[in-house]
Amino acid sequence: MSQRKVRVRFAPSPTGALHIGGVRTALYNYLFARKLGGDFIFRIEDTDSNRFVPGAEEYILESFSWLGIKFDEGVSFGGNYGPYRQSERREIYKKYVHLLLEAGKAYIAFDTPDELEAKRAEISNFQYDASTRMRMTNSLTLSEEEVTNLIAEGKQYVVRFKIEPNEDICVHDLIRGEVVINSSILDDKVLYKSADELPTYHLANIVDDHLMEVSHVIRGEEWLPSAPLHVLLYRAFGWADTMPAFAHLPLLLKPEGNGKLSKRDGDRLGFPVFPLQWKDPKTAEISSGYREAGYLPEAVINFLALLGWNPGDDKELMSMQELIELFDLNRCNKSGAKFDYKKAVWFNHQYIQQKDNEEIAQLFLPILGEHHVEASIEKVVTVVGMMKERVSFIQELWDVCHFFFVAPTEYDEKTVKKRWKEDSAKCMIELADVLAGIDDFSIEGQEKIVMDWIAEKEYHTGNIMNAFRLALVGEGKGPHMFDISWVLGKEETLLRIKRAVEILK
Ligand code: GLU
Repeated sequence: MSQRKVRVRFAPSPTGALHIGGVRTALYNYLFARKLGGDFIFRIEDTDSNRFVPGAEEYILESFSWLGIKFDEGVSFGGNYGPYRQSERREIYKKYVHLLLEAGKAYIAFDTPDELEAKRAEISNFQYDASTRMRMTNSLTLSEEEVTNLIAEGKQYVVRFKIEPNEDICVHDLIRGEVVINSSILDDKVLYKSADELPTYHLANIVDDHLMEVSHVIRGEEWLPSAPLHVLLYRAFGWADTMPAFAHLPLLLKPEGNGKLSKRDGDRLGFPVFPLQWKDPKTAEISSGYREAGYLPEAVINFLALLGWNPGDDKELMSMQELIELFDLNRCNKSGAKFDYKKAVWFNHQYIQQKDNEEIAQLFLPILGEHHVEASIEKVVTVVGMMKERVSFIQELWDVCHFFFVAPTEYDEKTVKKRWKEDSAKCMIELADVLAGIDDFSIEGQEKIVMDWIAEKEYHTGNIMNAFRLALVGEGKGPHMFDISWVLGKEETLLRIKRAVEILK
């Protein structure tokens, strides 16, 4: 077979917020396409009008733009294979439904929901298939004339795929190897509904993958049961030679216990299962997102990439570029991947350490704004550089460094009890005098003179430093003392000492 151009697609149905598992599927498709110089297509599978949710498509696009996953063609990107929204491709599907009908590989069925219900009650384990279809109301049991008349009268119908029984269908999966099932377990799937003149997922999916020249279908494990049916559809159309290769990705599992990761796990354990915050347009319920929770997109990408794949060694920190170079479907696991959300926090911490202080400062500015802090960018950059090591999220920066920007108005009671001694006020007044006389207020400049003063007076260094810290920070935390006073500057340092002495006496 000649080498086909690699073309993959991500084909979500716009039924709500995009689950994090869907994001991983898109990521693997993207990495695969980029690595092999292929195309990545964004297709919207919206043939199930009952499940359409307004805003979902925009949400999905915004998620990928935040994450840095880029498409080459598709809805909102254009391309030569459009339209890329299935609801705009009705006429195309109709043509292919007719092809199957003409070839006798599909048939028209008129059974109403009530009639189907009655059959289910009558026959246990009823399935619409080779064993039952000749007892139903369809174009196989009615005359051509009857069928034509019913359609002319406006009777609603569906088109069903006529599946031949007792045939072993083999799906070659790039991750799972050969998966064989017998066609007798399949029912005659509905491919098209006259009621809304739309195909079902299976038909639209196959027709589009074929017409869009998709070479590889990389998707979640939940679609594996559909794969044999898809193989049969490719054959029925005579497209078996150009059928895409399948790769079904492992499930994302709960962090603890068994089963699929659900939104409830996220709510219970406190992590998002969606890339961005989502507000349900019907219920107005808000679900948290990685972006709003303070994750960096690079961290989310890195974390997701390793849920079901590994580079072959224990390398963990990888940029998108490295992931593209290293990605390999052969290194994807068959078995489910436990969703270790604590690892996501670890990745975020790592990426915060890697980022420029300038960049972190820019992300921290809005938070400072919320606290009505106005500070020079230089100061914010310095503070961030000193404190980022202590945080895993940008928003945690406020907690650990607010005292650089806002003077304490209260002093932590416990610390005062323990660390503000009888002579602390007197010592702090003296210290203020010493500091006031320092010309070089750099960290080293202060340290040398203050330490000499302590030695000369034979004070207890710990006691002085504890009281000094309490005066500047309001509690017993923070980085190296002279780092703090240096950032605050002489004037502010003296002011804070003075205030502490006044209040604590
Ligand atoms: N529309 C399906 C979904 O929502 C696409 C499945 C596939 O990739 O074939 O995931």
